[in-house]
Amino acid sequence: MADTSLNPFMRAQQSFKEAVETLGVEPGVYEILKQPMRTFEVAVPFIRDDGTLQVFTGYRVQHNDALGPTKGGLRFHPDVNADEVKALAMWMSVKCALLGLPYGGGKGGIACDVDQLSEGEIERLSREYIRAVSLVIGPDKDIPAPDVSTNPQIMAWMVDEYSRIRGENTFGLITGKPLVIGGSEGRVEATGRGLVFATRQLAKEMGIEFDHARVAVQGFGNVGSVAASIAYSMGAKVVAVSDKDGGLYNAAGIDVNDLLEYKRTNRNLTGYPKAEPIGNRELLELPVDILFPAALENQITADNAQNIRAKIVGEGANGPTTPEADAILFDKGVMVVPDVMGNSGGVTVSYFEWVQNQSRFYWSENEVNQRLQEYMSRAMAAMHRMHERYGVTLRKAAYLVATDRLAQAMRVRGWLK
Ligand code: NAD
Repeated sequence: MADTSLNPFMRAQQSFKEAVETLGVEPGVYEILKQPMRTFEVAVPFIRDDGTLQVFTGYRVQHNDALGPTKGGLRFHPDVNADEVKALAMWMSVKCALLGLPYGGGKGGIACDVDQLSEGEIERLSREYIRAVSLVIGPDKDIPAPDVSTNPQIMAWMVDEYSRIRGENTFGLITGKPLVIGGSEGRVEATGRGLVFATRQLAKEMGIEFDHARVAVQGFGNVGSVAASIAYSMGAKVVAVSDKDGGLYNAAGIDVNDLLEYKRTNRNLTGYPKAEPIGNRELLELPVDILFPAALENQITADNAQNIRAKIVGEGANGPTTPEADAILFDKGVMVVPDVMGNSGGVTVSYFEWVQNQSRFYWSENEVNQRLQEYMSRAMAAMHRMHERYGVTLRKAAYLVATDRLAQAMRVRGWLK
């Protein structure tokens, strides 16, 4: 059976529709949330190294600012298009509202292939993008951050360009910056760390001891390698990990620190001598307690959901489970920490970075991690309450928490009359 191919924008709309119906709130809530408040499409001209001028298309989408300024990453990827950016902005609204952050959802990007650009070209393109959207972003309007193929260096060029336009240092414009210009301790690890916090809490509620659990991790990048490393440091047995070139399996457990060292030296996982090779499909179907899909979207589908043997799927990636697979996992009793909860550690520490920038007072890594744990724990509890009250999946429960908060804000602000 093939999965229904909803595009991500339609998927996000459908989720808000179901939440509004379940909560029984004003239909106007859906009418407002079903599309972004503002969508900007901009032409971004820049000079190539050979002196020619090229123009790329850029986007910035602000979904809903009832709870505060909009917030969300910037991605540089050839597939960036208006519908994708709109869907990602809607998901950011859900994450921010679920986590109780004073933000709405935003997102942006440039349709480009960074592999074809030199460092100088990426810098000029980044600065031109900021010029193109400078009127509509700002620390109290819309706050970008890194996403696919953007990084702290790009954030640094962008905040520099904006500060030049404004004539004053404006570090609160953007998060995910290098530490020396107002980045936050713990930001790089925040998504993987938050994923572990959320999954550990759910495991505890289910009577599974996370610290002795068997864990498989798909994707060994920023999110997956940090989640694997923290789980390992807590005592969990990480039996399998993978990246785009394939996976590794050791039933007795992999020493994640040793593997990270191997990857640093060899640049990928291939040939690691202390584990056997395993395919990505096999990894997903291993008999483990916890599976972290932390690579790509659409990995657990109607085709393989029936074979998933994990007790908990903790989603680090955005959209790794399709709606049909979600229903199959629910029927099988597999609990899913949904992406909007599982990977929200990144935006939460981005919020902490912005607070530190606005107050010019910087926190230790310990303080950041402690506050992250508090925010994740509160959001997990709110999601769990909705799950029990309405008997729905944790994903639907996450949308119920978020939609309820957005509805309350819009109601008191007088948007629904
Ligand atoms: P990354 O580029 O650092 O890592 C991605 C990893 O996935 C790499 O190890 C890559 O080799 C692997 N991969 C690619 N194709 C694969 C395949 N077919 N099978 C197995 N592994 C494969 O990216 P990241 O920042 O870790 O992001 C991973 C996911 O988490 C994405 O969906 C991203 O949108 C989401 N996410 C990331 C953050 C963050 O803060 N980094 C925040 C929220 C969501």
